[in-house]
Parts: sequence; C-alpha cells; structure tokens
Amino acid sequence: MNSRDLRNAYQMFMSRIWDRWRADESKMRIREFQDLLFCIKEIFIESDFIRKPHEGVPFQLITIRGDGGISTFSPELSATKSLNYGDFLIGNVLTDSPLNVANKLMGSRLYRDAMTSRKMCKETCSYHPLCGGALFSNKFAEHGSLLATETTSCRLHRQALSDVVLDKLAAGPETGNQRVAPLPDSARAIA
Ligand code: SF4
Repeated sequence: MNSRDLRNAYQMFMSRIWDRWRADESKMRIREFQDLLFCIKEIFIESDFIRKPHEGVPFQLITIRGDGGISTFSPELSATKSLNYGDFLIGNVLTDSPLNVANKLMGSRLYRDAMTSRKMCKETCSYHPLCGGALFSNKFAEHGSLLATETTSCRLHRQALSDVVLDKLAAGPETGNQRVAPLPDSARAIA
C-alpha cells in the first residue's frame, strides 16, 4: 500500500469511528478526538495557541529503567540505542542527584536537538499548533535523528486525523439517520 492509499484508508477508518462516536452521543472517551477538539477549541479562544505535548517538555515524562537509568521525553526512547544521544539516558537513580540529572540534560545534544526539532516543525508544518512537533521516538526511528520533521506516524495520527476532525466540524451537525448530540465539553466553544 503506498502512502496515499494508507492515508485514505486511515481517514476512512477514523471518519467512520467519528460517525459512530457521534451517533452514540460521544459517550465513549476517544483520546485522539478529545485531544484534537481541545486544541481546536483553544485556537478559537487564543489564535496563537500551540499544543504542548508532555513528551516534548523536559521532565514532564520521566522513565526509570530496571537498571536505574533515567530518560525523559518519549518513554520509548528509554530503550533505544543511540551513540549520538547516549542511549537517551540522562543519569541513574542509583548514582545521580536530581540536580546532576537536570544539568546533564540541559547540557546535552539530546536537549538541543529536541528543542531544535520542535522549532523545525513550527517553521515548516501547518499542523504544528495541533501537534506540537514532539513525536521524538518516531522521528528518531524513521530518520535516525531528532533533527527531523515529518514521519509516517505524524502524517497519519496528527495530519490526517486533524483533517478528518476539521472536515467533520466544518460539515456541521450530522444528518440522515444519525442522532445529533452536543459535542463533549472539550469542544463546546466550537460547536
Ligand atoms: S505533524 Fe509532523 S511535521 Fe507537523 S508538527 Fe507534528 S511532528 Fe512536526
């Protein structure tokens, strides 16, 4: 399946999920929709809103490995090998103080590239406000570096999904045999 077919198939699937979700009065919490609706609502309130994913902010997510190794940003990185980024480890709970760990991260190539990576996304991608550009584990897996922007994952889970949700909102209340229900609280401002 080429990338266009993959995107079309993904969008058809998520569009169907949206329709079923709305027909059921949005009772189920679907993280992907809730997250995007929240961001869209915030942009309506504040036009310069930018999503701030936890995995893009140092120490908002901390992973401690079984051997005491400490990692931050995407949890997947804690088990990823990399010469350039010191295997994404920034210390060890058995030997390092919190201050040592913080200093090590702030002086690291990992930190510099992570921040530059988000900046690159901000400068090049129109979906950046809805994404935040912090899919670091995917960037590294596909490009071998954090200094990258698009990945297969973001083209689907951020870009294609955003298009589905924005199209659904632009189309207005559902018609036909679907029941129309109010959107959840996360989207009230844009309903
Ligand atoms: S959708 Fe992809 S390219 Fe765009 S901001 Fe997000 S990670 Fe970066």
